[in-house]
Amino acid sequence: MSETLHIIGGGMAGSEAAWQAAQAGIPVVIHEMRPQVGTFAHQTGDLAEMVCSNSFRSDDHEQNAVGLLHWEMRQAGGLLMEMADRHQLPAGGALAVDRDAFSLGVTERLRAHPLVSVEAGEITELPTDGHWIIATGPLTSGNLAQAIRAETGAESLAFFDAIAPIVYFDSIDMSKAWFQSRYDKGETEAEQKAYLNCPMDRDQYEAFIDALLAADKTEFHEGETAGYFDGCLPIEVMAERGRETLRHGPMKPVGLTNPHQPDVKAHAIVQLRRDNALGTLWNIVGFQTKMKYGAQTAVFKSIPGLENASFARLGGIHRNTFINSPTLLDDQMRLKSRPNIRFAGQITGVEGYVESAAMGLLAARLAVAEMQGRTLPALPNTTATGALVTHITGGAEAKTFQPMNVNFGLFPPVEGLKGGRRGRKDRYKAYTDRAKADWAAWLAA
Ligand SMILES: Cc1cc2nc3c(=O)[nH]c(=O)nc-3n(C[C@H](O)[C@H](O)[C@H](O)COP(=O)(O)OP(=O)(O)OC[C@H]3O[C@@H](n4cnc5c(N)ncnc54)[C@H](O)[C@@H]3O)c2cc1C
Repeated sequence: MSETLHIIGGGMAGSEAAWQAAQAGIPVVIHEMRPQVGTFAHQTGDLAEMVCSNSFRSDDHEQNAVGLLHWEMRQAGGLLMEMADRHQLPAGGALAVDRDAFSLGVTERLRAHPLVSVEAGEITELPTDGHWIIATGPLTSGNLAQAIRAETGAESLAFFDAIAPIVYFDSIDMSKAWFQSRYDKGETEAEQKAYLNCPMDRDQYEAFIDALLAADKTEFHEGETAGYFDGCLPIEVMAERGRETLRHGPMKPVGLTNPHQPDVKAHAIVQLRRDNALGTLWNIVGFQTKMKYGAQTAVFKSIPGLENASFARLGGIHRNTFINSPTLLDDQMRLKSRPNIRFAGQITGVEGYVESAAMGLLAARLAVAEMQGRTLPALPNTTATGALVTHITGGAEAKTFQPMNVNFGLFPPVEGLKGGRRGRKDRYKAYTDRAKADWAAWLAA
């Protein structure tokens, strides 16, 4: 009798993981707590339930990173993509689905598979032996979250995210911005120039505060508590507390000299910090926000130096259980302190249905290889799946780790291509061509 792979959580990641392992000949048990134990967002007892929107986002596999992730999962025989394609609804370039038919389709296929069984019930402890994948998602039950916390330490498991907007480096106007850490702090030149600074004069600052106060905001979903703490208040809430609050907080203008205008003292300064090892992504420090996406783009583009900014992701604050993967997981997605346990899905710090399913697909393939005594070749970070897993298991800054969507900023640049907006179409096509060739080669190996 072959060994069994146990998967906790039959959501996006767990369902895809189960399918991949079973198709490779490994018996699988999915441990799913619904319907016995519910969450505030799930409505059914079905597997792979879409808790909010019914969209898998763009299906453009030539110009869009999430579309490329669809393509990679289709090539790998992904069940979620097969069901999404079967239950697709008209949505322009996006892949929207009939949510009930989709999750029912996934549930029926998995329950009908001779190697898959589903055990109903909440898992409350970390397993001590056997092969396991934890894919319990953003709403991991409280008991299991406590068990994970006890293993990883309180600082390594978050219950809310606080996402600051992330900007592509090549869209920042460096004739206005400059590299400098406050008071040139740091031993090395790299540390002394670790931040990008965007200066504002008084009028620009006042207009910025007005725009923040007037912007449309999103509410927390029903059932989410507004449990954010003073350390990560949304910027608009800071602005509501007083017009000068931001100038004494994330926008303080001290310890920095603008080399473009050394004699002019800035009234406020917005700082960006490197978000990945490649240096292609920069987050706006302290700018977590509940502003609506449209409002965010308009408000942030009023910052000098960011007028033409392209955003890899916009800011947000959500109820979201996730671990500090860069410190806790190895490159096989195993918990370093207990290598019989892998993590997959949103709890690893990726965000979205598609990204979560992709991490389920990969975790299962890695587990299967290990259980069969094989080692898979390293997954190139030139693929969408590889770029994501590389980011969460090491490419991201561990200290400021926050959930990430797939985007081209996670990919190593293709040499010899024009940067900026004008070269974007050719650049993205080059990324996706390279990814497809590398993904096909990895699957074949
Ligand atoms: C309110 C809300 C709205 C969202 N809206 C969107 C959106 O519009 N688009 C989008 O792409 N993403 C959205 N997300 C994120 C979305 O949840 C994830 O992208 C995706 O569902 C994550 O997949 P997953 O498999 O990691 O987790 P899930 O799909 O949540 O699956 C986890 C599963 O684990 C089960 N489980 C939890 N704890 C235990 C336990 N101890 N024992 C056994 N089973 C357990 C849960 O019941 C669940 O079925 C939203 C999240 C929330 C909370």
